[in-house]
Amino acid sequence: MKNAKHPESLMMSHGYEPTWSEGSVKPPLFLTSTFVFNTAEEGKAHFELAYGLREPDTYEECGLIYSRLNNPNLEILENRLSIWDDAEACAVMQSGMAAVSTSLLTFVKPGDVLVYSRPTYGGTEHFISHVLQDIGVHVIGFDASHSEAQIAQMIDDSGLAHKVAMIYVETPANPTNSLIDIGMCKSLAQRYSNDERQVLLAVDNTYMGPLWCKPMEHGADLVLYSATKYLGGHSDLIAGAIVGSTELITQIKGMRTFLGNMPSPHTCWLLMRSLETLKIRMTQQAINAATIAESLVKHPMVVSVNYLGLMTPTDRDYDLYKRQYSSGGAMIAFTVQGGEKEAFTVLNHLNLIKLAVSLGGTESLAQHPASMTHAGLDPDLKADMGIGDNLIRLSIGIENQEDLMADIHQALSAINDAVLN
Ligand code: PLP
Repeated sequence: MKNAKHPESLMMSHGYEPTWSEGSVKPPLFLTSTFVFNTAEEGKAHFELAYGLREPDTYEECGLIYSRLNNPNLEILENRLSIWDDAEACAVMQSGMAAVSTSLLTFVKPGDVLVYSRPTYGGTEHFISHVLQDIGVHVIGFDASHSEAQIAQMIDDSGLAHKVAMIYVETPANPTNSLIDIGMCKSLAQRYSNDERQVLLAVDNTYMGPLWCKPMEHGADLVLYSATKYLGGHSDLIAGAIVGSTELITQIKGMRTFLGNMPSPHTCWLLMRSLETLKIRMTQQAINAATIAESLVKHPMVVSVNYLGLMTPTDRDYDLYKRQYSSGGAMIAFTVQGGEKEAFTVLNHLNLIKLAVSLGGTESLAQHPASMTHAGLDPDLKADMGIGDNLIRLSIGIENQEDLMADIHQALSAINDAVLN
C-alpha cells in the first residue's frame, strides 16, 4: 500500500503495521486506560511533549501515556481521517457536539465576537446562542440570503469588528439544503484578521463531507464532522471529528485533554471499520437520492423538493453548488400538500424507511423538522428558514432504489386515502 494515493485505498491499512500486533490484519482493540513506560526518563520525555514543555526532536513523536490523551485506536483513526480532507491533523471527539463545542471553546473567548451562519443544527444553535452568549461571547448571525457586504456591515455596525475571533459556517444548512459560500466567508475572515489575530474560518461539513465537499480547498481553517453520520455510517455509534493544521488541532487536543471528551477505543475501532466502506456507501446513497428526488418532483401530492442535485443553471446558487460540491448528496427536504396532518400521514405510513432523526447511515430515515430536530427554534425564525409543518426530511441509505420508491409512493398515496375517509 506504500504507493496508494486514493483515500479509499488507504483506509484499509494507513498508519498501522500488522507486525505491531502478532500479524493481525486489522488493528486490535486497545482496551487499556494507561501505558507502561520503559524507564522514568521515557515517561518524563512523553510528558514534556504532551504538555508542550519543549519542542520535539527530529522524528520524535509523543509516546503513549494514558487513554484520555492518546490511544493506538484513536491515533490510527485520526491519521486515516486526515487523509479525506488532505489535512495535516485530526482530533476525534466523543460526539459531533463535542467537536463543535470544543472548537468554539478553544478559539472563542468571553468578549470575542463569533459570526455564524443560520440555520445550523439545533444543538449548535443552542450552544452558540445560550452557552457562549452566557459566558460573554457576542454573536452575529447571518443566512444564505446575506451578501458579503451585508455581513461586513453587520460586523461594522456592532462596533466590535476588532474582536471577531471566528466565522462558523454550516453548509448545506440542515434541513433546508440552503448554501453558504465558504470562499466568501474566507474573504470576510481575511478582512477582519490583523497582525495580532487571525480570524479562523470553521465549516461543519457533516452534510456533504468528506466525499462531496472539501472546505479546506475553499479556505476553511477547521472542518468539523458529526462522525455519527456518514463517517460512522451504520447508526451504531456517536462521535465527532475536527481536521485542520497541526498547530490548530494541537490546541484543540489540549482542550480535549482537560474536557475529557475523547471517544473510547471501541468507538474508534468501529469508525475505522466504517471508513473502509465510506466511499461506496456515500456514492450509492447519492445515486439513490438523485433518483428519489426526481420522482418526488413529479408526484401530485408533493409541492416542492429541495435536493441539491435538482439545481439547474437558472437557480441563484447553481454556480456555488457546482464550485463547492461534487454531488447532490443524499439529503432531501420536500413539502407535501397540506400541513402537519398530511406530513404525519406520510411519516406514519413509511415501512422500509424508518421514522427517526439523524442522517448519513446505511438505512433511509425520515423525520419532521418542524416538530422534531428544529422544534426548539423560535417560530418566526422557523418560518423565515422555510421549515413549515408540511416539510419532511429524508436521509437516503443504500437500500434497493425500487423498494425505496415503492415505500415513499405508497406512503404519499395514504394522504389521498386519509382525505377520502
Ligand atoms: N452538526 C450537524 C450538521 C448535525 O446534523 C449534528 C447532529 O445531527 C451535529 C453536528 C451534532 O452531532 P452529534 O449528534 O454526533 O453530537
